[in-house]
Amino acid sequence: MAAQGSRISSMPSLSPLLRTHGRHSTRRPISFSLHISQSPPLSSYSFSPFTEKHSVERHSRESWLYKGDAASPSDNSLPSPYESYSILRNDIALQLPELKNLLQVLRDKRHQLHDCDGAGEQCRHGNVYLVGTGPGDPELLTLKAVRVIKEADLLLYDRLVSHDVLDLVGPDARLLYVGKTAGYHSRTQEEIHELLLSFAEAGATVVRLKGGDPLVFGRGGEEMDFLQQQGIHVKVIPGITAASGIAAELGIPLTHRGIANSVRFLTGHSRKGGTDPLFVAENAADPDSTLVVYMGLSTLPSLAQKLIHHGLPDDTPAAAIERGTTPQQRIVFAELKDLARKITEAELISPTLIIIGKVVALSSFWHHSAEEVTSMMVEAK
Ligand code: SAH
Repeated sequence: MAAQGSRISSMPSLSPLLRTHGRHSTRRPISFSLHISQSPPLSSYSFSPFTEKHSVERHSRESWLYKGDAASPSDNSLPSPYESYSILRNDIALQLPELKNLLQVLRDKRHQLHDCDGAGEQCRHGNVYLVGTGPGDPELLTLKAVRVIKEADLLLYDRLVSHDVLDLVGPDARLLYVGKTAGYHSRTQEEIHELLLSFAEAGATVVRLKGGDPLVFGRGGEEMDFLQQQGIHVKVIPGITAASGIAAELGIPLTHRGIANSVRFLTGHSRKGGTDPLFVAENAADPDSTLVVYMGLSTLPSLAQKLIHHGLPDDTPAAAIERGTTPQQRIVFAELKDLARKITEAELISPTLIIIGKVVALSSFWHHSAEEVTSMMVEAK
């Protein structure tokens, strides 16, 4: 979906608006911008297991943020997806007053409880938990993740955190969507850093939820680094990364004695937004290794070509799995030379994981059609 974005750069900066005391005055100011894009094809979101930026589910979960807004859903009548879209288009500006209110409430609470002036030993910062939520199936969460999710004051979540996982959040906790969808950058990475910092400084237990494992292609490392530099204690709770969760469900061993002696996780993402993946295919064209490609849908045609060019047999078994481990999972099995075409024919969309290697043929689903696989998996659940 190619979205034409227009940029409004006169939006208020989040940082000075949220933060009232400047303990870290050396930090560079964060510029704040909002992309307004064409309306998304809402029908494609209707059955998503994940939170889409403009989904009605997201809007109802975040109704606390729109309390002062006449167009809010607080009157219990949820807006249609189209109304929801038009409200959420401007969500960052609309959210600021309630975010500021929440910060003030947290600060007041902390002052009452600890009688602190903001600098004393007693007036500790809150913790930030970086929590991996796995590929979507809530049963793949760790016990630790469930405990922390239930204890949180504020949870910031990404697009790939599934509805089923968000349903575990306690009734008094506040949820804030900070996901990025291609073409719709709701918040920049710097703004997410600032939000985490502001709330941790106000003493809140802040949980940053990320799909899969927070430190695998999730920019979790950057968030951890930033917060630690500001003196905030960050705890990381691992999640099952998409490669492990999805391969396990399909019975694909990522390594297997005599067939694959290593596994490589690659990003198919192209930094310039083009069709060329970031990595160098010649290093990855190893028939004795399994390749797992994250974010690889748009660059797959070029990757497959290069892998074959550099010596990977064109009949290498491969699989592409959309929305893995969720009820909406869709799978395409094909030999490497046919994979890109079959993905296009099946119209797979993000998130899709691609697994390439001889181990794929060890799956009991390998010889079955897509329809057979779907019904076999439903029966197996
Ligand atoms: N931190 C995540 C990865 C984030 S990058 C993890 O450890 O899994 C996002 C990419 O992960 C997606 O583009 C897709 O390639 C993959 N992915 C994550 N969840 C997925 C799912 N449920 N089904 C298919 N692919 C998924």
